[in-house]
Amino acid sequence: MLRLFNSLTRKKEVFAPLKPPDVGFYACGPTVYGYIHIGNLRTFIFEDLLRRYLKYKGFKVTQVMNITDIDDKTIRRSNEEGIPLSEFTARYEKAFFEDIKAMNIEPAEHYPRATEHIDEMVSLVKQLIDGGYAYEQDGSFYFDVAKFKPYGALSGIEPGSTKTRSRIDQDEYEKQDVRDFALWKAKRENEPFWETEIGPGRPGWHIECSAMSMSYLGETFDLHTGGVDNMFPHHENELAQSQAATGKPLARFWLHSEYLLLDKSKMAKSMGNIYTLRDILALGYKARQLRYLLLSSHYRKQLSFSLDLLEQAGASLCRIDDFVRNLRSAGTFDADSPELAEATEKCRSRFEEAMDDDLNISKALGVLFTFIRTVNERLQESGISGGDRANIEALLTKLDGIIGVLELGQEDEMPAEVRELIDKRQEARESKNWKLADEIRDQLKEHGIVVEDTKDGVRIKRL
Ligand code: AMP
Ligand code: ZN
Repeated sequence: MLRLFNSLTRKKEVFAPLKPPDVGFYACGPTVYGYIHIGNLRTFIFEDLLRRYLKYKGFKVTQVMNITDIDDKTIRRSNEEGIPLSEFTARYEKAFFEDIKAMNIEPAEHYPRATEHIDEMVSLVKQLIDGGYAYEQDGSFYFDVAKFKPYGALSGIEPGSTKTRSRIDQDEYEKQDVRDFALWKAKRENEPFWETEIGPGRPGWHIECSAMSMSYLGETFDLHTGGVDNMFPHHENELAQSQAATGKPLARFWLHSEYLLLDKSKMAKSMGNIYTLRDILALGYKARQLRYLLLSSHYRKQLSFSLDLLEQAGASLCRIDDFVRNLRSAGTFDADSPELAEATEKCRSRFEEAMDDDLNISKALGVLFTFIRTVNERLQESGISGGDRANIEALLTKLDGIIGVLELGQEDEMPAEVRELIDKRQEARESKNWKLADEIRDQLKEHGIVVEDTKDGVRIKRL
């Protein structure tokens, strides 16, 4: 049974979707005003792991990840460059898709762009005006936080005195600082705008996610995720304005991944302490190494990035790759091993047990490495039956559906010539022609293949 830590209740809860087996899942996507950094990727990898594990458990996932292609930051940067907003954001949207593909992140079902959902945002603001939750000031509309009693339930931040509360136009503002936030921003010089029923202007950032999530997933859906920095004010505001409009909870489970740090601070574009995937690749590392590193520690723990850790991730992947190679090149026997069958099943069930516990991936990977050690010992001592090998390969394929870091597709087949020599040697041995068998053994060595005759049969190894 899958249990997930729900930020809203601050507890691990059994995850059961509203309409099994369907799962509606909204993940806050990138603001496309520059290349994404590997801190963003940590959150996207966590969401990928969650998505893949839900699928492994048999759920049918509909994941929506928005593209924030209009907000304060995108407008400011495109103005600085002097190019139209759509041209500016298209550049970074393209880069985002390239990066997540390189990281083997499974595509979501929908990637809605904010600029293509203005009508939905306007009707949501209208609903809030009609319900008395929003008010107008100089052509902009603000959410009246004092009217929504549960405000603060998600982040635990108290709204405080309503008399002193002020309005805020910026999309992003100080942690702990509760304000009436902008739902709709009146037309301003040098800003794109839409002529709408509520006047000319453009949406605030928070209303974008409420409108897009509900239009794809309905008024209440199962999962809403993002990095911890999204919790306040973004998710708190999303929750407030959606629930105020519909009278229903927006999401049932809210999950937040912790920060990727660099030099003890949150990796953030505004701080300048970032690496992009492109930087990592330019240093000679592989995307797969970065994926393993970001994936392998628990999503609710902070992770301090370093190139050393990237090296270690590479070493772990090498151990797995060597194992796959050993497994494929080991000598085979007829008899299946009950111990190996048991170890394989144990690995599957323990891996799943760890993942069921709020996606405890570090524990799950520990289970996999213990299994690898057991099988490697066995491969060294003797060999493996074809059945056992197929069983283990099937398990690795299944687990890689969750972690997405193994390279199982590249089995290096024995050349036909080598296969023929092995068969010929076998025939020679059966007719007790030891001289010929030895000659063939030498020929095989030239092909980099060592054959050993053991009490259980012939064992074939690659040099
Ligand atoms: P943004 O494009 O800034 O809206 O961020 C996209 C996603 O990355 C959001 O879910 C953020 O919470 C997340 N994020 C941003 N910085 C970090 C970081 N240093 N570590 C982990 N997640 C982050
Ligand atoms: Zn969002």
